[in-house]
Amino acid sequence: PLNMLFLGAFMILFLSSMTVRINLCFSNIPSSLKTLDLDGHFDFDEVQHAARDFGNRYQFLPLAVLHPKSISDIAATVKHIWEMGPHSELTVAARGHGHSLQGQAQAHRGVVINMESLQGPKMHINTGNFPYVDVSGGELWINILHESLKYGLAPKSWTDYLHLTVGGTLSNAGISGQAFRHGPQISNVYQLEVVTGKGEVVICSEKQNSDLFHSVLGGLGQFGIITQARISLETAPEMVKWIRVLYTDFTTFSKDQEKLISAESTFDYIEGFVIINRTGLLNNWRSSFNPQDSVQASQFKSDGKTLFCLELAKYFNPKETEVVNQEIRNSLSQLDYIPSTLFLSEVSYIEFLDRVHVSELKLRSKGLWEVPHPWLNLLIPKSRIDSFAEEVFGNILADTSNGPILVYPVNKSKWDNRTSVVIPEEDIFYLVAFLSSAVPSSTGTDGLDHILTQNKKILEFCEIAGLGVKQYLPHYTTQEEWQAHFGPRWEVFVQRKSTYDPLAILAPGQRIFQKAV
Ligand code: FAD
Repeated sequence: PLNMLFLGAFMILFLSSMTVRINLCFSNIPSSLKTLDLDGHFDFDEVQHAARDFGNRYQFLPLAVLHPKSISDIAATVKHIWEMGPHSELTVAARGHGHSLQGQAQAHRGVVINMESLQGPKMHINTGNFPYVDVSGGELWINILHESLKYGLAPKSWTDYLHLTVGGTLSNAGISGQAFRHGPQISNVYQLEVVTGKGEVVICSEKQNSDLFHSVLGGLGQFGIITQARISLETAPEMVKWIRVLYTDFTTFSKDQEKLISAESTFDYIEGFVIINRTGLLNNWRSSFNPQDSVQASQFKSDGKTLFCLELAKYFNPKETEVVNQEIRNSLSQLDYIPSTLFLSEVSYIEFLDRVHVSELKLRSKGLWEVPHPWLNLLIPKSRIDSFAEEVFGNILADTSNGPILVYPVNKSKWDNRTSVVIPEEDIFYLVAFLSSAVPSSTGTDGLDHILTQNKKILEFCEIAGLGVKQYLPHYTTQEEWQAHFGPRWEVFVQRKSTYDPLAILAPGQRIFQKAV
């Protein structure tokens, strides 16, 4: 018994000394960070904005926000925390434009690096046979578009919304209507500069440090902070023919989409969306789209039905208008949409690419932008998309939706299986994006709880039906779920983590690994 007492007392002493050590470490953190010699600066007071994101549901306050002016600011900070060893609780989250949905760019009591402060080095465009642009990891895609257009060039693969950073989208994939042809944004990068979890600055590409290069692409910020990227460019068009046609039958709609994403496709962008129970829809479109046949279009009644809208774009320069019109007519004649529902619009290339920003400004002016966004993004194998649509659009969401629902196929051959992103095992798979907005404090069908319940039902259906679905912009709360998400690729992911960020300092908001303390 004396021995036990002694052991107990020892344990208490040991544990309390650990607590003191950890607390001491913790209270010393700001002053230890203050000793770093930086071009930029730390902010220890104004940190609230770094605890927010577009999802508007998770808020974790960091201890400090770094506003880096140079890459060495980022490297010095991460290295300092790496050298503190496993006993410090400190983690580091790179924050792009904070458009994550569930706190992925946040660091609870850690350091958030405000990547947009990293202005330099200045964007540099290289013209020539394989044109590219060198950009900072914190650069917004909209700025890259404006700069590259000065040289008649532009990136090939986009997201639907351009006010996102290079580091943020390359950590996921970056998918939009061009991906069927060019692959996601992570398939259009030549080189990266990365600060690893040990604070080392490493240049990587297909040829140089290729394992790090592939790890970081789609790597959810787990292996390094992207400080620079070299993005492949193409000749930019001036104008875009933007087309929408409607279907009542999902299978007809998706078969047409699959036909269109073949290698010889006339179109440069192919997406689609679901319209549930909307009235006056076609009248709303008329402000920006013209029906080809206004008499017939006025007879089409959308009320109360679930419709599927195929959205296409063809890039062109004004001098080719006639040829392009003919090509479009030919392609459309091979599709099975409802003939009276052909809507056309012609806009500049910038207007087309920056189209979601127009909606953002409208929503902001009505106070509807900064609301909770319980989004759900799924990648679904082609062979199971009909079953998915039948249950989800025919049953779970038969009466209402709380925001756009995008549905479009992409070709797996345009994705590189050495990157970290996880995709379904079929040659063609669909992105289905439920982009819901919740009305704050509503308890009805437009409230957060209801939408989350619907999302859960969708995920449960996918699981029970064994559809082989993967989440895009994935979010899980346990490591077992992450393991299931990665499947056979989990081991490689873990091994890459132990190579590039062994203390699990980086991107704690993804909740995949926990820093050992
Ligand atoms: P953040 O939210 O700041 O960061 C995202 C993750 O990346 C975090 O884990 C963060 O730590 C990490 N990270 C950030 N910067 C770096 C860096 N430099 N190096 C390493 N890791 C870093 N996605 C699509 O694919 N296609 C779309 O069409 C699309 N449309 C969208 C439209 C809207 C309105 C919104 C809000 C999002 C959309 N997204 C789309 C999702 C978007 O790509 C991701 O949410 C992306 O992460 C947001 O970029 P961000 O710069 O805000 O990143």
